[in-house]
Amino acid sequence: MKTVKKLNCKDKTVLLRVDFNISLKNGVVTNDTRIKEALPTIRLLLNKGAKIILVSHLGRPHGKKVKELSMAPVARRIQELLNQSVRLLDLDTRGIGKIIKRSPYNLFMLENIRYYPGEEINSPDFVKELASLADIFINDAFGTAHRAHASTVGITGFLPSYFGLLMEKEVTILKQVLQKAKKPFVLIIGGAKTPEKIRVIESLMHKTDNIILGGAIANTFLCAWGFGTGCSLVDHEMIEMAKVVFWKATQNHCALRLPLDLVISDPQRKKTPKNVDFDKMPKNMAAFDIGPKTITHFNDLIKRAKTIIWNGPMGHYEDLRFCRGTKAILNAIVKTGAFSIVGGGDTISNIKEKTFINKITHVSTGGGAMLEFLHRGTLPGIEAIEKQNK
Ligand code: ADP
Ligand code: MG
Repeated sequence: MKTVKKLNCKDKTVLLRVDFNISLKNGVVTNDTRIKEALPTIRLLLNKGAKIILVSHLGRPHGKKVKELSMAPVARRIQELLNQSVRLLDLDTRGIGKIIKRSPYNLFMLENIRYYPGEEINSPDFVKELASLADIFINDAFGTAHRAHASTVGITGFLPSYFGLLMEKEVTILKQVLQKAKKPFVLIIGGAKTPEKIRVIESLMHKTDNIILGGAIANTFLCAWGFGTGCSLVDHEMIEMAKVVFWKATQNHCALRLPLDLVISDPQRKKTPKNVDFDKMPKNMAAFDIGPKTITHFNDLIKRAKTIIWNGPMGHYEDLRFCRGTKAILNAIVKTGAFSIVGGGDTISNIKEKTFINKITHVSTGGGAMLEFLHRGTLPGIEAIEKQNK
């Protein structure tokens, strides 16, 4: 990979695409993993004498300047972490290019790049405007590399482009898994985004021995198998696909492991949670977590694994009464000593303790990006730079 390591960028202006799409609560950053993971590249570029313009999106403002989605809290957090001032600029500021060039400061951040309608549609005019600010483009936004937007793909048509250190780290480790994962290989999938996750299940079943399913995606599989799921969250459009995946998994000698029991409540979660077996789901109740029998079963599978990939919580973990399954999976993984990769916005928000983070081989900053990389072996943001360097 053509990375920033050997790049000479003294006195050059570098547009650095990062993924600072993080969670905020009342204007304060609640999980700064993604910011911390981008610091090595920022520090390296500053040491090399470059002027940096940080570019990221935050949430989905759909081309409008939504105040709650300003990058200001993120800029403040970087300022604290680097002990250096960060100038936040709106791309629409008149003469912004000159302001940056003439400024004595060397660290800038653009406002939420999705404030501008040209970003997501990768508009050529917008790309040109963005490219005119810098001499070099560096992509360190692994978490957004599955999107072909102006600041991830379009810009590589105008500026010499390189990979950042985080991008290199993520890609190296994920390639390692795709090429030589030790068996038993266990894939754990939970959460709610069934359509994007089901594709990964399909493409990895040839390599994995066990695929553990929890969370809402497990409900969809239980429903496809003909079990009653009551009022649980089920993706009805994915039922047929789930049946196909089940059949293909059998052909590939890969076992799909579904919950044996579930923690249920009424759909509004007013009633005290109760455990029921997977085939005794009452019509008026919904499943919000995996039950104790399932935890034991999944624990046994994880214990024996040599390679583990995990994406997606086992239940509606935001409500602490339904976070036990997710916590149990995390505990089981950190105890194994297996080669482990964990990714996904909601998934990694469950791993704040350093002792846990240190026991996982790789905590990926990408959710959708990690899954798509595992599915395709590359991403649009990566291909765009590789194509340029051919
Ligand atoms: P990630 O961000 O880690 O990829 P997802 O975004 O796919 O994960 O899924 C996380 C969401 O899924 C959480 O908001 C969680 O509450 C929800 N979820 C998981 N299991 C259930 C369930 N059984 N019922 C309702 N929501 C669930
Ligand atoms: Mg999520």
